[in-house]
Amino acid sequence: MALYREQGIVLRTTKLGETDRILNVLTQGRGKVRAVAKGVRKPGSRFGGRLEPFGHVDLQLYEGRRGLDIVNQAELITPFDAVRGDWVLSACGSTMVEAADLLAQEHERTTSLFLLLLDGLRQLATVPAQPSVVLDAYLLRLASVAGYHPSLDACAGCGRAGRHEVFHLELGGALCAACAPVGSQPLAEGVLDALAALREADWGLDAAVAPAARRLAGSLVASYLSHHLGRPLAAWELVPR
Ligand SMILES: [Zn+2]
Repeated sequence: MALYREQGIVLRTTKLGETDRILNVLTQGRGKVRAVAKGVRKPGSRFGGRLEPFGHVDLQLYEGRRGLDIVNQAELITPFDAVRGDWVLSACGSTMVEAADLLAQEHERTTSLFLLLLDGLRQLATVPAQPSVVLDAYLLRLASVAGYHPSLDACAGCGRAGRHEVFHLELGGALCAACAPVGSQPLAEGVLDALAALREADWGLDAAVAPAARRLAGSLVASYLSHHLGRPLAAWELVPR
């Protein structure tokens, strides 16, 4: 069996049999990899606690059959214990990995997605004052990485520049009065500005952004991404705002 080495982030784990686990890992070079960690649930396993969700790991794997590889060696680069140990940070981190899991393909190089997730987890590990803002910023960047960059400064229909206040999930951004379908509801005041600020800021938002606009912008980002991923993000509902 061919042996290979990859850096990755553990997205989730599921129990297999009495002592094993299946890991979903987002790797830098091979996209999403599913692999069995044999004996990982036995006391004194040679993998120790190195294969937990959110962990940034360096793995040596055997290529297995039917898309299920086998973990041979595992080194922990960053455990992100701070994220796993706090329920708010953990809810944010779980939403991050859930979205990455939905988006990543197997056998497809996903460096930008991998680096974005790593960056997002690092931001959460700093124990930010507003973890949900870090999550919103991540999901907005993720939409762009996935090819659904939302148009915020020009009409997504005709390209006319300006801040247009109707947001269309399907068409991918703000629409001018001429392009907006009849009966469209404009966004509440400040939401589009909050979205733009979220996109431009470095994983945070100025305290001047009104909390209501910030929350609505966060909901809009989640709806937008869910729409394009084809399903809601379950862990998003657990994040306090
Ligand atoms: Zn237009």
